[in-house]
Amino acid sequence: MTAEPAPNARSLRQRDAEVIAEIARLRFSPLSLVGGRGNRLIEEGGREILDLSASAGPAALGYGHPAIVEAVAQATSNMAGASLLLYPNDNAVSLAETLLAITPGEGGRKVWFGHSGSDANDCAVRVLQAATGRTRFISFIGSYHGNLSGSMGVSGHTAMTHTLPRPGLVLLPYPDPFRPRFPAEAVLDLLDYQFETTCPPDQVAALFVEPLMSDGGLIVPPPGFLKALAARCRRHGIKLVVDEVKVGLGRSGLLHCFEHEEVVPDMVVFGKGLGGGLPLSALVGPRDIMDHAPAFALQTTAGNPVATAAGRVVVETILRERLWEHAARVGQVFADGLRALADRHACIGEVRGRGLAVGIDLVADRATRAPVPVTTTAKVIYRGYELGAAFSYVGLKGNVLEFTPPLTLTEAEAREGVAIVDQALADVAAGRVSDAAVAPFMMW
Ligand SMILES: *Cc1c(COP(=O)(O)O)cnc(C)c1O
Repeated sequence: MTAEPAPNARSLRQRDAEVIAEIARLRFSPLSLVGGRGNRLIEEGGREILDLSASAGPAALGYGHPAIVEAVAQATSNMAGASLLLYPNDNAVSLAETLLAITPGEGGRKVWFGHSGSDANDCAVRVLQAATGRTRFISFIGSYHGNLSGSMGVSGHTAMTHTLPRPGLVLLPYPDPFRPRFPAEAVLDLLDYQFETTCPPDQVAALFVEPLMSDGGLIVPPPGFLKALAARCRRHGIKLVVDEVKVGLGRSGLLHCFEHEEVVPDMVVFGKGLGGGLPLSALVGPRDIMDHAPAFALQTTAGNPVATAAGRVVVETILRERLWEHAARVGQVFADGLRALADRHACIGEVRGRGLAVGIDLVADRATRAPVPVTTTAKVIYRGYELGAAFSYVGLKGNVLEFTPPLTLTEAEAREGVAIVDQALADVAAGRVSDAAVAPFMMW
């Protein structure tokens, strides 16, 4: 009998493939991690990788930020319990106070804490239905609000067509200025027509919207669109829920992404970057809805003092250092650098975004704006990894490179990222990445 090799004789990737369930996997490259420092990930073997995605958003302050390290160490070494259910703790209460202070809104409001964007949107759906007595919701084709039953039920991403949306959901097209098949006026007209016909507005509890659509393709809505939605919601007594999970808390170049349109939402959902890498989400909404029923959406470890210690530090750091201004400035350097590559790479259809949420729409043909096949996008990501940068793709056709780096990205790192993307695009065009190399990575 031959003994199994000790687990550490095999690579992290091999061990991962054996024990981590396929359903939860979304790998874009062979990168496997043993550490992280600043805006760099450390690959097994020790190579440093420039992180242009912040682990898909949560690493708002990068990795090993001294203030987070200290706050978490303190919160764990003298733990004020491990839950918010039975006793309040100062970190959770202080973070809630800060979130209320920085989030525009009308009337008395309260905060609910969860672990993820998924559970926060899930809580929002349930509490809105219960408190308003209205059972229908409106959201957008391409939207991603999470992966729990309730939050999936109001999402419109093609990656979710394996599960039906909730009954009565109305999915509207999200106006995409680059491919204006459904311009904003047409979408608003369709919404009005729904209200006049099969979706009476008094049946609708809320409209969920991403103020900048991320997973659906890094789409910046045309000016005035969010405002027009907000006006319709107000007119019909429908709550406007703005999902800031991916693009909020400084990423867009303003503290809140909805501020680009002077919209005041009824409810705001925070996640990803809020915890700086620890599981933390928050829902901010009207008191009468949030207090609808006691013990309405309980999760034992939600709001625990460790995750909220990290959240406090993240929010305090963003506010103290005005990181939204930094995101706007470095995002401009990064996006300008990428735009300048369009001269050399015919596949760049458009570079778009706000602040440090930037996308490159890759096209097979600039005239028709037909998307490249997803294999091309996957190859750019693969080659980017080989060259030392981590990023991924979004979009219903899988043709949009998405960059959501830590808000602490420096201008030098932004330029380094541009150079790597430039080289990756050139190498893929020259056929330097094979189909076989990327075959295991197309999961989205
Ligand atoms: C990622 C994301 C979610 C879900 O957050 P999880 O932490 O993955 O549960 C919800 N909404 C938006 C806009 C997101 O990008």
